[in-house]
Amino acid sequence: MEFNIIIIGAGPGGYETAVAAAKKGLSVAIVEKSDLGGTCLNCGCIPTKCLCHTAEVLELVKESTSHGISTNDVQFDIQNAIERKNQVVSQLQSGIDALMKIPGITLYRGEAQLVDTWDYQGPEHNHCNWFHNQIPAH
Ligand SMILES: Cc1cc2nc3c(=O)[nH]c(=O)nc-3n(C[C@H](O)[C@H](O)[C@H](O)COP(=O)(O)OP(=O)(O)OC[C@H]3O[C@@H](n4cnc5c(N)ncnc54)[C@H](O)[C@@H]3O)c2cc1C
Repeated sequence: MEFNIIIIGAGPGGYETAVAAAKKGLSVAIVEKSDLGGTCLNCGCIPTKCLCHTAEVLELVKESTSHGISTNDVQFDIQNAIERKNQVVSQLQSGIDALMKIPGITLYRGEAQLVDTWDYQGPEHNHCNWFHNQIPAH
């Protein structure tokens, strides 16, 4: 396969670049060795914001007594909070997965290795993909 551009890593830097390049008519290969969304979606921005929001809700509930709201039996289940966080992450991963299916983008699952400046060894080690530009987005 031959591509105009190859992007290593489908974090925010990688997938946004892939979409922008494809919209300009370039053929794009993007390679991801782990979960779509990179650090931000899987263990950075999104999970932390989900869990912080849960903590804010808990604080609000605890404060609600001073507003005349009875909250005698408040229970907090960390497993439920983590499950909610996982659902949010999973939903956003699906969104990125859909983005990676737009025309012009080919997603490869696996670890990319740069063999030399213009030669890329893909996840399947028995083939090479030729390309004209590379963006290591990792
Ligand atoms: C706890 C935490 C909270 C954060 N909160 C925020 C926030 O609130 N706001 C904010 O703006 N930023 C936040 N960040 C920073 C944000 O996560 C990063 O700026 C962002 O993820 C960088 O995106 P990226 O695409 O450059 O790299 P990454 O998201 O790291 O993506 C790189 C991708 O490349 C893949 N990869 C690496 N090597 C290869 C290879 N050889 N072959 C194939 N794939 C490969 C990786 O698996 C990964 O998916 C936070 C980070 C952390 C850790």
